Amino acid sequence: MPMLSVQPKGKQKGCAGCNRKIKDRYLLKALDKYWHEDCLKCACCDCRLGEVGSTLYTKANLILCRRDYLRLFGTTGNCAACSKLIPAFEMVMRARDNVYHLDCFACQLCNQRFCVGDKFFLKNNMILCQMDYEEGQLNGTFESQVQ
Ligand SMILES: [Zn+2]
Ligand SMILES: [Zn+2]
Ligand SMILES: [Zn+2]
Ligand SMILES: [Zn+2]
Repeated sequence: MPMLSVQPKGKQKGCAGCNRKIKDRYLLKALDKYWHEDCLKCACCDCRLGEVGSTLYTKANLILCRRDYLRLFGTTGNCAACSKLIPAFEMVMRARDNVYHLDCFACQLCNQRFCVGDKFFLKNNMILCQMDYEEGQLNGTFESQVQ
């Protein structure tokens, strides 16, 4: 999203942030609106976006700095269970290098959910509860079950 520092021409422009007239020598033009240099701020962290070289991001009428934009609208990665994208703001479960939706984090054989402190096992990238894991170990059919 381009942001321009422009010199006002002719009539004074109103600032889209504070609605006052902009009397400064320079004003910012972003989103087809004019802003005081101090009024163009990130909606989340309030950092000034008016600094030269900073990039601003917009989404759903929010003006955001790069960091907050990525935090809110970026993605964590793909869920290892359902392989859909997980938005960055969503709570996830992590196991080794994998991330999972909270809803997807369950034993993939018996669908048992895990609570904090419960043991889970990863085998061939499948999440397993202790019971299914041990059963697989014991009767030795585990590898063929998985494939
Ligand atoms: Zn203003
Ligand atoms: Zn921010
Ligand atoms: Zn998922
Ligand atoms: Zn299970």
